[in-house]
Amino acid sequence: MVKKVRQQQLHFNQRVSTRLTYPINRKVIVDAIGKGNGIHIIKQSNRVSLWAVRVENELPIFVYDKITKNPVTVLPKESEYYDYLKSKIFVLSLRDDSQWCNECGKPLALGSTLQCRCCINEICTDCKNSHYISCVILNNGWKTLSQSKKISKGDDE
Ligand SMILES: [Zn+2]
Ligand SMILES: [Zn+2]
Repeated sequence: MVKKVRQQQLHFNQRVSTRLTYPINRKVIVDAIGKGNGIHIIKQSNRVSLWAVRVENELPIFVYDKITKNPVTVLPKESEYYDYLKSKIFVLSLRDDSQWCNECGKPLALGSTLQCRCCINEICTDCKNSHYISCVILNNGWKTLSQSKKISKGDDE
């Protein structure tokens, strides 16, 4: 068990150094997940689940082993789970009285208006990425999602 933990830590440090542009203290991730300060994305097995944790000005997704209480790796930016996370945050707005995008101020088009589940505001599809950074990451909108457990609810097997 000790050996496994050590191996996971080495593996984690290697992945972080190749996939992120900044170092991460493993304990910061462990604490964040332990205290519910992360977004539970999905459970991959009884042992392993995916969590997004705010680090620097990003929301990287980690593979977390609950038996060893270790983050095993960080997912590469190309991972489909980053899109999955966004698809859970930005849902198609069902309102038919939408007016202007909260991000750019342009008129919203029926059928292509998104609603951010963090701030409940409506935005246009063009503003999805900029709103993700400004609201979800920088304005700590992710906290709404981590507290409500909206992401994982009903999505696990
Ligand atoms: Zn917009
Ligand atoms: Zn928002």
